[in-house]
Amino acid sequence: MHNRREALKSLVIGSATALFSPNVLLASTSKKKEKLGIALVGLGYYSTDLLAPALQMTEKCYLAGIVTGSPEKAEKWKQKYNIPDKNIYNYQNFDSIANNPDIDIVYVVLPPSMHKEYSIRAARAGKHVFCEKPMAPSVNDCMAMIKVCRDNKVNLAIGYRCQHDPNTQEYMRIGREKLYGKVKMISCGAGYFDARTTHWKQNKALGGGVMGDMGVYALQGARLATGEEPIAVTAQASTTRPEIYKEVEETMMFQLQFPSGALAACHSSYGINMNYLQVNYEKGWLKMEPFSAYLGNKGSHSGGIIDFPIKNQQAKQMDEDCVALMNSTQLIAPGEEGLRDIKVVEAIYQATKNGGTVTIN
Ligand code: NAD
Repeated sequence: MHNRREALKSLVIGSATALFSPNVLLASTSKKKEKLGIALVGLGYYSTDLLAPALQMTEKCYLAGIVTGSPEKAEKWKQKYNIPDKNIYNYQNFDSIANNPDIDIVYVVLPPSMHKEYSIRAARAGKHVFCEKPMAPSVNDCMAMIKVCRDNKVNLAIGYRCQHDPNTQEYMRIGREKLYGKVKMISCGAGYFDARTTHWKQNKALGGGVMGDMGVYALQGARLATGEEPIAVTAQASTTRPEIYKEVEETMMFQLQFPSGALAACHSSYGINMNYLQVNYEKGWLKMEPFSAYLGNKGSHSGGIIDFPIKNQQAKQMDEDCVALMNSTQLIAPGEEGLRDIKVVEAIYQATKNGGTVTIN
């Protein structure tokens, strides 16, 4: 335990200085490219409905390839997006992507339990990695992903699209600049009604459970509004549909204590529609609703409104991450940011088991 804590500490501290490693690939080939080639791994809902359409709007990257276990999907995507056969992979021949100069970035959009394996295989193939949230089911997995990316001199970005949204950045600014003094209390909720019964979200081995999926949005709301990392948590897991949620929680309520004394009550659920953030400061307040939607995040605070236009959140996210790769500047949400959340997620699960407060170092 002690060793793991020390290793974690050095990773997190290390991230402040060596966040962005120079990249062999960028130095040789990609730097000359005006647009980086992205291969999407996993062609489910998010790839199909959000990322692929966003990649038709991006200026710094394009949909260069796909990795799928389904030949029917491969054919459909090939036709729709004009993807050459040489850029279409399955899970077995995926590693040969190493020899494909069209692909600069592999974007892992699989169930969470598969993020580690495919991020690591991509890194070993010399490709930069974009990985969806939640980064992985455990802190150990996240640490392994960060290490392999570093060892292979590739960069790792987590798909925290909201951190690229100017509306999120505005509530972060208000906290950071202490516009209304210190944050005193936060309430944050992220959830929707999921009618599915046998999806990975209900399957523990695949990384299901609402905490990693919707819970990280509520956790991010609290972390970003305070600009601090929680030092202690309490949590309660529950379900109103035990016939469906046999292995994982349908609803997670969790409470966070921050070093400054700020307190947060967070909610996430597959049974309740909600998307809001409320912050009370020493001398003011802020309300966002929605706060983590794909588009239309907006709100108000004691002194004004927050309602910045944004054309496409995912396109902005991928473009900004590609600019960071091209210029070797800092990523907005690198692997270390995903790890920070999973550290808290692990503590939250521990708190549901012992019923008391779990402290986080
Ligand atoms: P999905 O179930 O719609 O798609 C998952 C894909 O993985 C499918 O194409 C499926 O065929 C494939 N797959 C490969 N092996 C599998 C296996 N053993 N079991 C199940 N599926 C397997 O899921 P999704 O909603 O697209 O989510 C994928 C990832 O994207 C998750 O990490 C999720 O949290 C994330 N996501 C992020 C956002 C966001 O706003 N950032 C939104 C939705 C999903």
